[in-house]
Amino acid sequence: MARMPVMFIGHGSPLTLEQPQRLLEWQQWGTNLPRPQAILVISAHWETRPLMIGTAQTAPLIYDFYGFPEAYYQLNYPAPGASALASRVRQQLLQAGIAFGERPERGWDHGVWIPLLGLYPQADIPVLQISLPSQDVDELLALGAALAPLRAEGVLIMASGLITHNLRQWTPDGVVAPWARAFDEWLAEKLQRDDRQALHAWASAPGANESVPTPEHLLPLFVALGATERHEVMHFPVTGFEFGSFSHRSVQWGTGE
Ligand code: ZN
Repeated sequence: MARMPVMFIGHGSPLTLEQPQRLLEWQQWGTNLPRPQAILVISAHWETRPLMIGTAQTAPLIYDFYGFPEAYYQLNYPAPGASALASRVRQQLLQAGIAFGERPERGWDHGVWIPLLGLYPQADIPVLQISLPSQDVDELLALGAALAPLRAEGVLIMASGLITHNLRQWTPDGVVAPWARAFDEWLAEKLQRDDRQALHAWASAPGANESVPTPEHLLPLFVALGATERHEVMHFPVTGFEFGSFSHRSVQWGTGE
């Protein structure tokens, strides 16, 4: 079996589901990827310590956002659970010495199901979510490395966050904030060069203070990066901004060939 790509996806707000262009880009991305056996998601919206493994069954969604139109609270994503993948994740974590627990009652948050509604609208591929267990870049890279062998078993590792995420300073009418553009471009360049030393020091990059006031939306990127080879082929299937300050830049490493 070919080794699956790894992705970081800028998941956007629920309103992303009303942007036809973005939805089309997500759908095309899903169509271009080799079809996964299962999808393993690490979302910015579930932080625990130690790491927790979520439900391995189809479960009600978590509508973890407030004040949106009622229709968003009726959305559903009835993908199959991924109990076989959960077993493999436990094995890999044990082998790597990474502590973990179980939260079988925990469904999928919007960092999981918003992008999956775009990528795989049929909801027919098993999904498992694990939590983001740390804010330490090295620990997140090590987690990614522990999960990397799953790629050869048809597992799509999907890290879900946003490269820039400042809820207090979003700008109207598509005017991109200069600090958001600066950080987004800095990060893109470092990713293209696979400059992990520079990426490790993201907090001192141009625009970092405004773009990343809290790190949880950026950090899933490091789990994805940890699951890649050094200088593995990569590209940006989606770029651009929402509200002028949320970068939707998304990354794919590997081709699946
Ligand atoms: Zn989010």
